[in-house]
Amino acid sequence: MIEVSGLEFRYGEGEFRLHVPELRVERGVAAACIGPSGSGKTTLLNLIAGILMPQGGSVVTDKVEVTQLSDEDRRSFRITHIGLVFQEFELLEYLSVLDNILLPYRINPALRLDAAVRERAASLAEQMGIGDKLGRHPRKLSQGERQRVAVCRAVLPEPVLLLTDEPTGNLDPANKGRVLDIILDYAKDTGATLLTVTHDHDLLRKFDQVIDIKDFGVIG
Ligand code: ADP
Ligand code: MG
Repeated sequence: MIEVSGLEFRYGEGEFRLHVPELRVERGVAAACIGPSGSGKTTLLNLIAGILMPQGGSVVTDKVEVTQLSDEDRRSFRITHIGLVFQEFELLEYLSVLDNILLPYRINPALRLDAAVRERAASLAEQMGIGDKLGRHPRKLSQGERQRVAVCRAVLPEPVLLLTDEPTGNLDPANKGRVLDIILDYAKDTGATLLTVTHDHDLLRKFDQVIDIKDFGVIG
């Protein structure tokens, strides 16, 4: 569940301002966030993930008020509860595809990397159409393949909240549907809450809730 209220955010002294009076995404709901480029969608995701801190208001995720946590507690909350697919993917170039997918298991002491997890990672990669790329390094992948590695990495630890920033932005129409269906099925199967930023208006019918960032106060 995501509950945002009275949120006020700006980057330093910059012109851009985001004001979100009220936003709720109930537990287990698949929500899409739409809005023009530069309107603050990525910023909103980073605020919900606790990567950015607002100047005012609160963000409650899975009953925890993340805006009240210390930097360290916020980071630890994020790695145990939230799966993130960043717009720029943030893959580690020196690790293979498989090791990138398994990365959360190396940085989060609460997660145990065993044979079953490795098997799930391989089968997820297979479903995503990158099963034959596990030994490669990210720089030898296409943008679409990199994006799918990022999606595998985010869902493997089974987070209660999945935040994905344009996860189908670099994909051809066939792969768009396929990747989005895997994300949506993951959320349905595990009861996770999903918030996806998307530009694909033809995919919106697959979501339970659509959040238009233009409904909030955005200056900039
Ligand atoms: P969107 O994801 O909807 O395209 P963003 O949230 O990335 O929009 O950006 C919203 C606004 O904030 C833009 O005007 C952008 O230039 C500005 N912005 C984004 N990141 C930063 C940053 N780190 N520092 C200053 N301004 C930023
Ligand atoms: Mg963005």
